[in-house]
Amino acid sequence: MDLSVVIPIYNEADNLQALHAEVTAAVAGLDLDYEIVYVDDGSRDQSFALLEKIAQADTHAVVVRFRRNFGQTAAMSAGFDHSLGKVIVTMDGDLQNDPRDIPKLLAKLNEGYDIAAGWRHDRQDPYLTRKLPSQLANGLISRITKVELHDYGCTLKAFKREVVQNIRLYGEMHRFIPAIASLMGVHIAEVPVNHRPRRAGVSKYGLGRTVRVVLDLITVKFLLTYATRPIQIFGLWGLVAGGVGFLLALYYAVQRLFMGVPLGNKPGLLLAVLLIFIGVQLISIGLVGEMQVRTYYETQQKPTYTVRQVLGRPPSKSGD
Ligand code: UDP
Ligand code: MG
Repeated sequence: MDLSVVIPIYNEADNLQALHAEVTAAVAGLDLDYEIVYVDDGSRDQSFALLEKIAQADTHAVVVRFRRNFGQTAAMSAGFDHSLGKVIVTMDGDLQNDPRDIPKLLAKLNEGYDIAAGWRHDRQDPYLTRKLPSQLANGLISRITKVELHDYGCTLKAFKREVVQNIRLYGEMHRFIPAIASLMGVHIAEVPVNHRPRRAGVSKYGLGRTVRVVLDLITVKFLLTYATRPIQIFGLWGLVAGGVGFLLALYYAVQRLFMGVPLGNKPGLLLAVLLIFIGVQLISIGLVGEMQVRTYYETQQKPTYTVRQVLGRPPSKSGD
């Protein structure tokens, strides 16, 4: 299998026929062995019935049906797990993404990139509730993850299979796949893509998503920088806090013991005690984190590195 197109579907009944036709038209002519994997994320409308018909009529269609609504990120994960293609393209099920952009993304992968990410440079969504928050979030994500993309939220992306198969996604994290994958060391290309207004059905999201995305960003940042060495961040701040607290306490102690300055009217003493406590706690958290990291990697026999290739020896299991 060369290509799997993974599409999450939640209450998109009115889009499905056109969607299947457009995606098929875009990939059928490419001379690739392909499949279209629809993940029905617990739709309450006719979506599943329609998908069933599509799957009966076209052997290229695969349908995975969730028992309930688990969210777009989970749907995409399930799509990855159930797909067979060497290349995986993800897109929305509402035709806001244009399947005719798929060949452009594939061309980028052929150039040697591991991920080709769509950029909706002319996004067709409301400004205040969608585009503005998304612009701010994109700027923040770029700065914090150091993976510079204009549009993390665009679902239309193409991945080499090895990029996604080892990534576990939680929360709203599908948009962070490029950032998480950058941990493995990947080459990412950005491709301007077409974006269209929703034709039928309603958007499943509002302003609230931005908040969830920012919270997930904190997790991703941590995973990116310190996941394998928590003591180095918690310990560092613990030393700083504890050190400042200790010096402050020492200063008061010297004043009290040798100069007879009373301690009763010194609020700074409280601060010193607080800082010492915080310091001890941060260092302890770092140590507990170090234990967790070992459990995390060793129980799953995950290597703490990824290998692109090995020369002079048959490829080993590590890092693939
Ligand atoms: N979606 C999903 N599960 C959800 C919410 C959305 O599978 O809980 C799918 C939805 O059917 C669509 C895609 O995710 O195919 C993007 O959703 P939507 O178009 O509502 O997002 P927007 O384009 O407004 O950001
Ligand atoms: Mg949409």
